[in-house]
Amino acid sequence: MRIILLGAPGAGKGTVANLLSEYDRSVQISTGDILRAAVKEGTGLGKQAKEYMDRGDLVPDSLILRMMEERLQANDCKKGFILDGFPRTIPQAEELKTLLERLHLTLDLVVNLEVPKEVILDRLTTRRTCSNPDCQTIYNVKSNPPTRDGKCKVCGWPVIQRDDESEEAITNRLETYNEKTTPLIGFYQKEGLLKNIFSLNSKETVKNIKKALTAGK
Ligand SMILES: [Zn+2]
Repeated sequence: MRIILLGAPGAGKGTVANLLSEYDRSVQISTGDILRAAVKEGTGLGKQAKEYMDRGDLVPDSLILRMMEERLQANDCKKGFILDGFPRTIPQAEELKTLLERLHLTLDLVVNLEVPKEVILDRLTTRRTCSNPDCQTIYNVKSNPPTRDGKCKVCGWPVIQRDDESEEAITNRLETYNEKTTPLIGFYQKEGLLKNIFSLNSKETVKNIKKALTAGK
């Protein structure tokens, strides 16, 4: 499958993408992963990106798109790909469209995960992360708590609430998302690719995506 997953932070894109890639071995691709890999491998583009990151600047779209171009041509993408959290803005979506045309790749579907705001807030404010940079195991105070004294079960480091996961920070992120990314829904609707899926349960969502994929063929 070749799909794009849209959805607010905390909508469960990563989990859904993971389940989908297990299903038919399509590769899950996020810009964060591509960036980290390119920087770690020290590729030409990775080195350029690192300069921006070291200065605390955003990596420009043009560079991200060139990394995306390399990534989409890698062998493992032949089985398909699931773009998780990219594109985020209309200009990125337009650039991506041009790129896919140049690579002769067509998208099957753009899935918009619809999750009520209260559910997202509850999910993200209950999230805790292991403070060990090499571990970063994710916990949830309700469904998957760390040890009783707040330590990571994997490595024993303290488990913390990240600054960007306070209720205020999350509300801000959701507002930014709505402002920048909601226009994408209209963009892909016009392209005839959009499928809105009300999503509270990842497994159920995956079933619905599979159904939508078969219906489109
Ligand atoms: Zn840990």
